[in-house]
Amino acid sequence: MKAAVVTSFTEPLRVEERDVPAVGPEQVLVRIETSGLCHTDIHAARGDWPVKPSLPFVPGHEGIGLVAAKGDLVDHLRIGDRVAIAWLAQACGRCDHCVSGWETLCEAQQNSGYSVDGAYAEYALAHGEYVVRVPDGVDPLDAAPLACAGVTTYKAVKVSGARPGTRVLVSGIGGLGHLALQYARVFGAETIAVDVTDAKLALAEELGADHVIDARTSDVAAVARHLGGVDAAIALAVNNTAVRAAYDSLRRGGSLVLVALPEDGRLEIPVFDHVLGGKKVIGSIVGTREDLAEVFRIHQRGATRVIRETRRLDEVNACFEQVLSGEVTARLVFDLR
Ligand code: NAD
Ligand code: ZN
Ligand code: ZN
Repeated sequence: MKAAVVTSFTEPLRVEERDVPAVGPEQVLVRIETSGLCHTDIHAARGDWPVKPSLPFVPGHEGIGLVAAKGDLVDHLRIGDRVAIAWLAQACGRCDHCVSGWETLCEAQQNSGYSVDGAYAEYALAHGEYVVRVPDGVDPLDAAPLACAGVTTYKAVKVSGARPGTRVLVSGIGGLGHLALQYARVFGAETIAVDVTDAKLALAEELGADHVIDARTSDVAAVARHLGGVDAAIALAVNNTAVRAAYDSLRRGGSLVLVALPEDGRLEIPVFDHVLGGKKVIGSIVGTREDLAEVFRIHQRGATRVIRETRRLDEVNACFEQVLSGEVTARLVFDLR
């Protein structure tokens, strides 16, 4: 099978032939149809974060495909079922986080395309209990971005407290942000979209943002505060300046939801203003299997639009550059069919 492999944090990925892996008793072997390119894959391949993946590894945690083989202990899936392989490859299932609906906080978790091989390949292994079924009627090219960009921003909007009557700022209208904006609208909030490219700002308008702010030419926090400040800001742009601007946009009682993970990400909090303003800073990591099932249902009934461009897996290195330069419409998806 063909797979894109990270062999060094400083060199391009290698697209190579590998043996199709053998399935373990609790696992499924998935014939990957589509695989989204999340900015996290770029952080992973470059070793940007304090905890690094061990080399070599196959990135990819927006994998959609058909069950091609299954282990003896997997009895709830059939060969041919369409499933998603998301960031949460496996959790312990027993700790307080797992049993209270916060499996994404499990200390014993494994992550697809990071601690275990992911979906930048024609076949991928996954734990049978942690794949999520993709309902009929959801296009596999849409399902891929929903498996991380979708579920992550759906969860971020959930924890942000967005509801009718609130104002939500989405900082960064990329793979994650174009969906965050739509979920904020689904939750009934007034929306402000922020980005630094003309195309992304135009996309935000097309997707129904109430206000757009060009961070190249405007003081984001000043404009947001002029509108009354925001009840929630969702930080999706990969730099500290944007995180700062999102925090500074909050009105009293507002929440900053941190999602982007820039290398050396830092936010200095002014304690006095934070306390008197009753503000909150929330870290939000992906979403649960149930969140993803909800994301698929929301998409199935036509409430979200996935903006994506398809690519071949051989183009992976050029794709990374395109994402970093901001020239991608929203999400790139490898079509492996
Ligand atoms: P992306 O590159 O598709 O999107 C980033 C967007 O930010 C782009 O549209 C870019 O033009 C815009 N931008 C750049 N500078 C800006 C600025 N100063 N102000 C406003 N916008 C600006 O990336 P993505 O795939 O959407 O991922 C975003 C981040 O989220 C990454 O760091 C990724 O690792 C992280 N992530 C976190 C989670 C989680 O669970 N917390 C899950 C997935 C991804
Ligand atoms: Zn991701
Ligand atoms: Zn656990």
